[in-house]
Amino acid sequence: MTLIIRSSLIHAAGCYTTTPIRKGVRVAEYTGPRLSKKQADKDYENSSITYLFGLGNGKIVIDGHSMAMFINHSCDPNCETTEENDRIWIKSIRKIAAGEEITYDYCLYDGADDEAICNCGAKTCRGTMYSPKEVRRRKSAAKKKPINSKTGKRAKAKKTRSAKR
Ligand SMILES: [Zn+2]
Repeated sequence: MTLIIRSSLIHAAGCYTTTPIRKGVRVAEYTGPRLSKKQADKDYENSSITYLFGLGNGKIVIDGHSMAMFINHSCDPNCETTEENDRIWIKSIRKIAAGEEITYDYCLYDGADDEAICNCGAKTCRGTMYSPKEVRRRKSAAKKKPINSKTGKRAKAKKTRSAKR
């Protein structure tokens, strides 16, 4: 298996395989320094682009720094993420042909007033990279009390990827 990074139709750069991949294979590990959620929110307070992946209960995040951070989101992905012993693996959920872009569902949470619009182009695209659960949470939060983008406490939280639970 050989992965390469090149320009992608989904978003900026993406990760592609140059060889076929079988179903159920570990394609890449989401590696990077481990930060507390609090520290990550502070470090990336003013960045619009982050590569954070939340572990377990969401208190620790991986600050992505290699190949896997370039893998784009899709609502109809060919991979999924799994957490094993505090490590995040991107695993194929179907056969992937040579030349295909590697994708998984980011299942984003947090992110304050960032809309995280999805451009994956899948027929089943839900229009956002937030997880279905987070979409519901954001809808009901918006009804109760709109988040003030200048003073709102949540405005500091950076959107973070998560494994499907
Ligand atoms: Zn989509």
